[in-house]
Amino acid sequence: MRPALLDPLFAPLNSLPGIGPKAGELYARLLGRESIDDCRVIDLIFHAPHSLIDRRHQPGIARAPQGVIVTITGRVDRHQPPPPRTSQPYRVFLHDDTGELALTFFRVKGNWLEKALPVNETVTVSGKVDWFNGRPSMVHPDYMVRAAEAENLPLVEPVYPLTAGLSARILRKAVEAALPRIPDFPEWIDEALTEKQSFLSARDSFLALHDPRDETDLDPQAPARRRLAYDEFLAGQLSLSLVRQRLRKVAGTPVHATGKLSKPVLAALPFSLTASQTTAIGEVLEDMAGTERMLRLLQGDVGSGKTAVALMSMLAAVESGGQAVLMAPTEILARQHFTTLTKMAAPAGINIDVLTGRTKGREREAILERIVSGETQIVIGTHALFQDTVVYNNLLLAVVDEQHRFGVHQRLRLTAKGISPHMLVMTATPIPRTLVLAAFGDMDVSKLTEKPAGRKPIQTVTVSTERTGEIVARLRTALDEGKKAYWICPLVEESEASDLMSVDERFQTLKSHFGTEVGLVHGRMNGADKDAVMLAFKNSEIRLLVATTVVEVGVDVPDATIMVIEHAERFGLAQLHQLRGRVGRGDEASTCILLYKGPLSENGRARLSILRETEDGFLIAEEDLKLRGEGELLGTRQSGTPGFRIASLEAHGDLLEIARKDAAYIVERDPDLTSARGEALRTLLYLHRRDEAIRFLRAG
Ligand code: ADP
Ligand code: MG
Repeated sequence: MRPALLDPLFAPLNSLPGIGPKAGELYARLLGRESIDDCRVIDLIFHAPHSLIDRRHQPGIARAPQGVIVTITGRVDRHQPPPPRTSQPYRVFLHDDTGELALTFFRVKGNWLEKALPVNETVTVSGKVDWFNGRPSMVHPDYMVRAAEAENLPLVEPVYPLTAGLSARILRKAVEAALPRIPDFPEWIDEALTEKQSFLSARDSFLALHDPRDETDLDPQAPARRRLAYDEFLAGQLSLSLVRQRLRKVAGTPVHATGKLSKPVLAALPFSLTASQTTAIGEVLEDMAGTERMLRLLQGDVGSGKTAVALMSMLAAVESGGQAVLMAPTEILARQHFTTLTKMAAPAGINIDVLTGRTKGREREAILERIVSGETQIVIGTHALFQDTVVYNNLLLAVVDEQHRFGVHQRLRLTAKGISPHMLVMTATPIPRTLVLAAFGDMDVSKLTEKPAGRKPIQTVTVSTERTGEIVARLRTALDEGKKAYWICPLVEESEASDLMSVDERFQTLKSHFGTEVGLVHGRMNGADKDAVMLAFKNSEIRLLVATTVVEVGVDVPDATIMVIEHAERFGLAQLHQLRGRVGRGDEASTCILLYKGPLSENGRARLSILRETEDGFLIAEEDLKLRGEGELLGTRQSGTPGFRIASLEAHGDLLEIARKDAAYIVERDPDLTSARGEALRTLLYLHRRDEAIRFLRAG
């Protein structure tokens, strides 16, 4: 149960004054929620100002600088209404010791100005001053009050991120109505840390967040922001630790690998495993042999051979009499894995099936039957693998490929289904440790640090789109020599019609050059068509494949050696690295051509040159993080760290580390959060909507 203390903060947002149905939708968009029904008062309180308006400058009329916000106090001399039926403005003149100022109003209706600015009254106004022909004027002042009430004029105003249709003034009103609802929270931060970090209380931090006095208060390092960032990290880490502790306890069907299946498979591989592959397999087998459930992340750069590690791990589960699944993020990948793994695993003589959203009708029923009976030992597929209709006979291992967004929530879903297989999450996007921590909690990590022997480096060049003609001519020569190439067009969002057009246009032009040697694949095609094109490319019936980023992850056509990426400047570095990783997979030298549309910004130039200089995915990821921020790296386009409202890994990395240790300490000492601090921490979890973890507490 949520502590009653938090009720005022979890009241619906539209219980605040001035939030009707129309504004509701705007707020939902602004606060990143699905609808207004999902918006609470607390969401607005987490909506931090990004700048401020300073009205403290009171230079006097004659010394007011052009275009700058100032506050002026003066006496009203006269009103000058516009002549009837003209579009001229209404002017009110006032003066102080230094000069005269015209307050200017357009489309004035009624006599409200006479009431607001009576002649001979001393008033205080605030707004931007414009100088024209040596005369100052202020158009529609932001504030006009009688001098006696000047105290009520906010001299410093926070400025909030807005969304189209929502005015700053209305938003501020709502925030002002929300702030008094913040209660005195019980303190959940350890006293020693509070002292060391000079943290304010949570309540004071929220109040200070919305009441910046100057630029330093807006800095991520401002004490209020640091405290709130710490809270956010602590809530996240604590919830992850609680879930993790719980998941580990639930699980733990030990897997006894016998080698009966993996030995013949290994012997038949056309290569020997790299040392890091062997180490990673060893770590996985050791984890799975224990009584705790495995939660392991396998990080390996593109082409480092993660699939083989997955296969060996899955074979161990089968040797132990159980089943294993491999989940891929796309249909193409699932089917490709199915083909490769069926071939690789042939010597083991086991049953492998593929199950995706496209598997329908009788075929689907037959597969589901085989899964429930245990006849199928390995299933490869997409999200469809975890739908309610899929019932496993004895699922011991789930491998999730190329999917770093598979977080705690999905794991909880699995557990809710009553199955808790060992988990191996594989990612090719090298995620810096701090991000792993934020997204998965303290997960065990295996790394594939070396590439299989015999790989040739990929030569990367950057070329301006003006020279597309030359590239096409060079492609002609290369295809004539029997080479195969990808041509990637950006598709920011699969639904954007204009992007779709661009990939289709490119396909048409290339077709006019290369005829039937060119194929097209994009996310809007139906699955069977996609497969057919990919297969034709693999079998070299097509030699040039025009594609959107559907080929970004995992596609394996080892004899493709040329990668052209159009509008390279629009992609994230990590994504470019992924795309480039589609070539350089065989023993032929490969080339990657980054076509950019100039002129490039300095940042854009720096980004592309990193790719030219290195093929080290970890280095690229770190640089990407520096240049673009974390959100982009994880593929979510929001700014800042995904899943966090105040905290940012870039600014508050030091706090994350402390929060992680703090959470581990708490879970060890007080795993059910029953101590006084434990109780306070429950409030924290609710406050940050991390309460899913609370359901796992025994004394919950
Ligand atoms: P990724 O880590 O990107 O998923 P893959 O598992 O698709 O990489 O492997 C890339 C290519 O390298 C595949 O063609 C695979 O057969 C091959 N490969 C994997 N391990 C080795 C190895 N130890 N030696 C040589 N080639 C290997
Ligand atoms: Mg892969």
